[in-house]
Amino acid sequence: MPTPESKGILVTRTADGNPMIGPTAYEVEDKEDLSTTDAGLRQVLLVAQRLVPAIDPCDIIAYFAGLRPAAGDDFVIRCEEMAPGFITVAGIQSPGLTAAPAIAKYVASLLEASGLTLMPKHRHCRERPRIIHLFSMPLSDARELISADPECGDIVCRCETVSLREVKQAVADGATTLDGVKFRTRAGAGRCHGSFCTCRVMQVLAEETGRSISAISKRGKGSELVVLDRTDGFA
Ligand SMILES: Cc1cc2nc3c(=O)[nH]c(=O)nc-3n(C[C@H](O)[C@H](O)[C@H](O)COP(=O)(O)OP(=O)(O)OC[C@H]3O[C@@H](n4cnc5c(N)ncnc54)[C@H](O)[C@@H]3O)c2cc1C
Repeated sequence: MPTPESKGILVTRTADGNPMIGPTAYEVEDKEDLSTTDAGLRQVLLVAQRLVPAIDPCDIIAYFAGLRPAAGDDFVIRCEEMAPGFITVAGIQSPGLTAAPAIAKYVASLLEASGLTLMPKHRHCRERPRIIHLFSMPLSDARELISADPECGDIVCRCETVSLREVKQAVADGATTLDGVKFRTRAGAGRCHGSFCTCRVMQVLAEETGRSISAISKRGKGSELVVLDRTDGFA
């Protein structure tokens, strides 16, 4: 049940449909500490198994933590008089995600009130075509897709059933790193944590962006996976 610190521990699903359990809520001083703990995991499991007894710790494939930025009892949203046009939006802890559209509208109204002329964007894209995910479509639809485009049947990530077409699409949509592709397609997010698909995704990233394998990183500069450029041997 909800507590003063959090909404309680839940059994829920990610936007992609994967089951997720948690969270806990602890005060930490370090602003970069994203560590998880044994005690936290035990607490989450205890509560989650009370809701769904079949939950097995062996099914867990990833543990993660987020930092809730606390700044008193409420969000801090204000115009800074010392710096006209600068709006502080801080301490956006839960329910900051739910409140995001309302916060955006409020900030726009603050900007307008401070003298900024607001105009609709000329190239605003209201509706983007839905991204195709093989893992979320009926088998008959997947078959049709594969017969129309063989790259849809070339499975790059076996755990999450991600095809070559999806990885290429992610790169065309702007992914430049392994995490960028993972975020858009789920390639590498499954049980093997990318043991199977990392090399292939790197290869596609290199080919599609015209970079060498040694320039491909997990999440930007400093997280490259191949130090020496040995493209010949790698590819
Ligand atoms: C476990 C947990 C559960 C939650 N559950 C809910 C919920 O159920 N409902 C709800 O409404 N809210 C929930 N929240 C809160 C919600 O996630 C936050 O309120 C919301 O994400 C805040 O949005 P934001 O854009 O202000 O910050 P963030 O989403 O934290 O975005 C900040 C971004 O800035 C980037 N960044 C940080 N430093 C730098 C830097 N120096 N340079 C460049 N980039 C940087 C970060 O990588 C991040 O991408 C939850 C939070 C946690 C941790």
